[in-house]
Parts: sequence; structure tokens; C-alpha cells
Amino acid sequence: MKNYLNQTDKTVEDELHDECGVFGAYDFDGNDVASTIYYGLFALQHRGQESCGIAVSDTEGPKGKVLAHKDMGLVNEVFNAKNLENLKGNIGVGHVRYSTAGSSVRENAQPLVLNYVKGTLGLAHNGNLLNALELREELSYTGAIFQTTIDSEVIAYLIARQRLKVGTVEEAVKGAMQKLKGAYSLIVMSPRKLIGARDPFGFKPLCIGKRDNAYFLSSETCALDTVGAEFVRDVLPGEIVTITKDGIASDTSLCQEKKARCIFEYIYFARPDSDIDGMSVYESRINAGKILAKTHPVEADLVVGVPESGNAAALGYSMQSGIPYGNAFIKNNYVGRTFIKPKQEQRESSVKVKLNVLKEAVAGKRVVMIDDSIVRGTTSARIVSLLKNAGAAEVHVRISSPPFKHPCYFGTDIPSEDQLIASGHTVDEICKLIGADSLGYLEVDRLSEMINGQKDYCDACFTGNYPIEPPTQDIRGEMG
Ligand code: SF4
Repeated sequence: MKNYLNQTDKTVEDELHDECGVFGAYDFDGNDVASTIYYGLFALQHRGQESCGIAVSDTEGPKGKVLAHKDMGLVNEVFNAKNLENLKGNIGVGHVRYSTAGSSVRENAQPLVLNYVKGTLGLAHNGNLLNALELREELSYTGAIFQTTIDSEVIAYLIARQRLKVGTVEEAVKGAMQKLKGAYSLIVMSPRKLIGARDPFGFKPLCIGKRDNAYFLSSETCALDTVGAEFVRDVLPGEIVTITKDGIASDTSLCQEKKARCIFEYIYFARPDSDIDGMSVYESRINAGKILAKTHPVEADLVVGVPESGNAAALGYSMQSGIPYGNAFIKNNYVGRTFIKPKQEQRESSVKVKLNVLKEAVAGKRVVMIDDSIVRGTTSARIVSLLKNAGAAEVHVRISSPPFKHPCYFGTDIPSEDQLIASGHTVDEICKLIGADSLGYLEVDRLSEMINGQKDYCDACFTGNYPIEPPTQDIRGEMG
């Protein structure tokens, strides 16, 4: 049995990452939007912590003028009162990004700003294209010179090219979408319009908000709450919405019956205070915990969640089982980009630095520990051992997702199959490897119940049933 738990700290980064969050704003009264976008991005920080940026324009000003600031770092590291003050404009788009190590460079930060004969485009993208390499090659042969290695630039080029053939930017976005294969939620800023688009499968979320005379587009509703905007509605999978002073126009001609919304948004990525496509993320996690209590019951004294995404599922498990819910972990939330990861020979592990156990809460108790997933198994093993070292009599691990067995090609950084503990081991073997007294996962056929019976979701990383044929070569790593 291969033991993944002996790898060095560097190779065992054991958290999943989403790739990006997007936020756009258009204030019809002409007020500057940069600071609102800043707060929107701040609320979306969980979706990407490596780089961020804001691009703005004045809809009454010269058509080609876009002001942008972007850099590596967290939103509150990259922006300050002075650089926000300089971003003058009443229409804008913002982005937070996570990337894999190879592409973690400033040039790949978004939004992308592209000047072309029809004016200037600002673009922010969340997702991953399956045909980016082919499209890039095709565009390069016809003279495109790429400045970055990200998919998003391919989309920007396609839109700009299409714009030369059609009458409006939204038609150009539609023309580009007809060539794109994969996952994308897009916000495009043209000199006079803010456009939102979601791929026909709807992998990534995107919603519309309104505050006074301003409209917003956002990856998640929690960012609308943060800026004091009302939720208007979700952008439909395949829909293009165009926001102008005349209101919101919608083009649903690319909408299709088959959808594949990422189920992992509910399990892990999204903030619990967000709603996605009519379903509360918090409620879905409570549901997952309740299902686990029914399918994997155990005699115990305390249910605890691994913060943050395990907490609501733990509460659900407690509600269903009657076992008291409690806090066992204190999380240090101040681990920023510059955090120096402990080397293997150091006694502190990354997990211990981020998470500590309340000994008084767990000593002598049979504990049910709820987490959202097990990737390589290293983190779960360390958390189980933290609980046992703090005196827990038994640790029963319950996971609010099915076992991860397959990589994702749609924008989630799931490692390859040989790195996934569930890909090569049975549940009993994983239980032994992480040192738990018992282990239970949410079954694949209960995922629909978790989101109140909705069925139009992607579960490919658990089942291998990819909604779009996966590529023959590994295209993961340069996501937007
Ligand atoms: S493969 Fe998994 S992580 Fe990727 S989109 Fe589908 S459900 Fe989400």
C-alpha cells in the first residue's frame, strides 16, 4: 500500500484551490466604482489568493482609456487608499486569482486589458478551457502575439477578432463563446457596456446585483451583500447579459438542456453565506452532515467540524444524530502569501501552524470529525493526530463529499490520480492511513439530496463521468 503521508511538506500541499473570483460594477450615476470592486474582491478572496486586480473606465470619457492596477498578493496587500483613488471610472471589473506554481507571475494577473481598433476591452475570467492550446495556436498563426500564458487572453483575443465582424460587443462575446470549450464565467468591460457570460454547462457561478443606480456582476452573492447590493438573479448557464443605461439585456440562444454546475462549489469553494443557482451553500452543507449522520452513524460524545467548510456539515450531523456539536479547533486566519512553510525537519507542520486543538473540548471524548474532503490524506492524518494528542478517546472521520478519484479539467486544482489517496486505496485502507477509528464518505448518489434534489451538476472528480470529453494531454495549470 503506497503511503502518501511520508512525502515532504513541499510536495504535500493538501488543499484544493479554486482558480478565480470575478466582480464587475457599472454605476449609471457616474460614481467611481474602484472602491466598491475592492470590497467585492475582498469578499471573494477565498476563491484566489495569489494575485488580484481592478480595471476601470469612464463611460462618458474617451473610448480607449482604461486605468488598471494589478499585482501578486492579497486584495488588501495589492490595494491601498492611494492606488484606489487613482482608479477613476464608473465602470469596472475585478479579479482574484489562484494559480499553480508555474504560472504564478505578475503578467498572468487579471483583469486583462486589450486595446484594439474598436476601443478597449477589460476581461476577468473564472474557469478553464479545454481547447485553449488549439485556439492559441490558431490565433498565433494569424498574427496574435500573446503576453501571458493564461486561457483568458485567448478569450480576449477571440472577442476582439469577432468584434471586427459583428455590430456589438455582446455579439462578439457570443461569437467567441461558440469557439470555446470548457468552463468559464466571464465579465467583459467595453467602453459603454458591462457584459457577463456563463458557459453553457454553467460550471462556475455568476450572479447579478443592484444598488441604487448601479449594477454588479459577481462570482458569489456574499460579495453583493458586502457592497450593500440586492441580489437580482443568477446568470443562466449559457446566457449573456449586457448591462447598459437602458437596463439588462439577455441573450439565451446558447443555453442548452445539459448543464454541469460544479458540485464542489457547494461542498467547499463557495462561502457558506452565498447562494448559488437558488441553493444556499450553508443549507447544502447542513444537508450533507444530516445525510452522513444517517448513512454513517456512530456512537460518540462530540461532533466537530474542520474549519471552515466542515463546520456547517458538522452542525448538520449533530442535528440529525443528537450528538452535541462543539468547537475543537482554533484557526489562525492570518496565513498570507508570504507565509514561510515549515520544512520537514522542523517540528511545526503547516497544519499545526494554521490549526490548534482545544484540549479541554476533546480530552477523553469520542469525537466525530467532519471535513469536506480528503485529497492526498496528509492533512487529515495530521488533524486526526492533533485530536488524539489532545486526548480524544476515539476519532471518527466523516467526509462531506465522495472520495476524490479523478482530476478536474474545469478550473479546480485537483492533483493527478496517482496523488489522490482514494484513487489507489479502499476506504478501510484510507482509514488506517489517516489513523482514524472509522471513516465514512458521502455517497455519490446522495449528492443530489444535498442540493435539495437538483440534478444538473458535475461530479466528474468523484465519478469520472466528464460532461465534456477530457483532453488527451494534461492542460491543467494555466487556469483563469
Ligand atoms: S470535476 Fe469536480 S471540481 Fe471539477 S467542475 Fe466537476 S465537480 Fe467541480
